[in-house]
Amino acid sequence: CGIVGYVGSNRADGRQHGALEVILEGLRRLEYRGYDSAGVAVIADGAVEYRKKAGKLSNLIGELEAHPLPESNIGIGHTRWATHGGPSDVNAHPHVVDGGKLAMIHNGIIENFSEIKRELSAQGESFTSETDTEVAAVLLARTYNAQGADEKDLTVAMQDTCRRLEGAFTLLAVHADHPDRVVAARRNSPLVIGLGDGENFLGSDVSGFIDCTKRAVEMGQDQIVTITADDYTIVDFHGNAAEGKPFDIEWDAAA
Ligand code: GLU
Repeated sequence: CGIVGYVGSNRADGRQHGALEVILEGLRRLEYRGYDSAGVAVIADGAVEYRKKAGKLSNLIGELEAHPLPESNIGIGHTRWATHGGPSDVNAHPHVVDGGKLAMIHNGIIENFSEIKRELSAQGESFTSETDTEVAAVLLARTYNAQGADEKDLTVAMQDTCRRLEGAFTLLAVHADHPDRVVAARRNSPLVIGLGDGENFLGSDVSGFIDCTKRAVEMGQDQIVTITADDYTIVDFHGNAAEGKPFDIEWDAAA
């Protein structure tokens, strides 16, 4: 339902935000959309760490107080409105797969998930949740792992994955092998890029990062963006270069 992504460069000048701080503030801003669960994943010391909880954002914050996440400059956060699988801790996003290396969050519905789930199950994959999202996460991990050792590219794996998916989706993924980037895709579901100074943002709408920057980029349909701290690159689901539409957010956000 609500999505936030963040990459900073961890500069020591104090001008940047911590990933968790940005993500929780963004999720709070997105609460108006309604949700039943919330979760966050960061990469720290080359490992994906995550917390997720059914219920209000305050439940997630309680969980983070009881089990703090390490400091990080990259992460993704989600508030879920359950469509496939009831609102539970397990069905909450992020879905972390591939032995803990890949985390994914998702807005929308993947219409052909049961067909893909059957196929992946036949290939020996197992699933811990009832969500359509976990199927996309496992498919992305498999696609990534099928790439040759010298051609590992999370963005290309996302392209290949998205071409298999039907429905409406905004997907964000982080991978322990690539602690400098968030890869995000959209089809019939909103996603906006926020541009900072040595840090970049993603949001299901601009309220996901409105406190941090007023510079944004609108993406087109069936596009994938890869953000790093200093750059963003947009391609279509076939890897062709694409361009977003830059705009300034002219919205005086109320608290
Ligand atoms: N279909 C996904 C689920 O049920 C995502 C729902 C959402 O947009 O929050 O988990």
